[in-house]
Amino acid sequence: MPTATAHAPAGPLVTIERVHAARDIADELGFDVVVVTPGSDLRYLCGYNAHAMERLTALAVPRRGEPLLVVPRLEAPMVAASPAGGLGLDLVAWDETDDPFAVLAAEATARLGAPPARVAVGARSWAEHALGIQRAMAGAALELAGPVVDRLRMIKTPAEVEELAAAGAAIDRVHARMADWLRVGRTEAAVGADISAAILEEGHVGVDFTIVGSGPNGASPHHEVSDRLVRAGDVVVIDIGGETATGYRSDCTRTYVVGGDPPGEVAEWYAVLQAAQEAATAAVRPGVGAEQIDAAARDLITGAGWGEQFIHRTGHGIGLDTHEAPYIVAGNHLPLVPGMAFSVEPGIYLAGRAGARIEDIVVCTEDGVRTLNERPRDLAVLPG
Ligand code: ZN
Ligand code: ZN
Repeated sequence: MPTATAHAPAGPLVTIERVHAARDIADELGFDVVVVTPGSDLRYLCGYNAHAMERLTALAVPRRGEPLLVVPRLEAPMVAASPAGGLGLDLVAWDETDDPFAVLAAEATARLGAPPARVAVGARSWAEHALGIQRAMAGAALELAGPVVDRLRMIKTPAEVEELAAAGAAIDRVHARMADWLRVGRTEAAVGADISAAILEEGHVGVDFTIVGSGPNGASPHHEVSDRLVRAGDVVVIDIGGETATGYRSDCTRTYVVGGDPPGEVAEWYAVLQAAQEAATAAVRPGVGAEQIDAAARDLITGAGWGEQFIHRTGHGIGLDTHEAPYIVAGNHLPLVPGMAFSVEPGIYLAGRAGARIEDIVVCTEDGVRTLNERPRDLAVLPG
């Protein structure tokens, strides 16, 4: 079973196999070299969590020969101290007066026996790095590396699933404390500041986002915080997430009512939303298309008459990025595979009035689904 039981030893997070797998896929797809720069692709493939800056750091994976890590000489010791240091990668350090793009191109050409013609570049590389690669590999066609890297990143190893499970448990502990902060008369910003502190206290090293959408602000799915005061009877969307020490992300939404009963019709449409979130989660199993998970939620909401108010896709993959493949959206026929981890987060948004969303991270298992967030999904009434 790829989804080991919680707390089972799950093995190392990063091995050289990832780089070798990327090389195999590059060869299969006809890319001469895959180049990824600081960010989640680099961290995923070789365990090096480098800070992006103007100096070039890049992992280059030619379709033949040994992969190499090109780094500024002054940062070579940081590679050695990271998980990448133990992988046996060729380390190519460049000096301050070198052209690092020329160094990269020469090394790739030497391994391939010819200048690269098709080059895959990480999707979130800085433009100055991508254009530097283009300049140094004259005549090469640059494309995005997603077809290589996302194919690997989409399917989590048991060790990665346990990292996501730990992140999920950490954000659940923050939601469990919501009554301490979410009170009538406080601003969204004050509530958000307390939540952010708790995200760090409960096992994250960084806060990715804190959405406190009270009353009408809840109808804007990506509203963060404002100076609006929480009022008695407000419906409040709380969508929060952070980064753990290993780089894996949490992302969980619950909807609350503060200080009294919500307006009468809220329970009616919230029940539709809750049923939709349950139906989409229950539909997760190997072989089902990503778009079918979206449809499972959307058909139910549309059937109840709220389809126009469900204004976003049902979910997104999650791992070292909060939003990554696979996307749970109409038109994505990709069949689910055990190890895929993504959010299931339908919402209903009534402009100018209120909104609600329920979001869990789930993992496709051999025989169904594992849910990584466990807080109750009912409309939670807080005393205020
Ligand atoms: Zn999400
Ligand atoms: Zn979210």
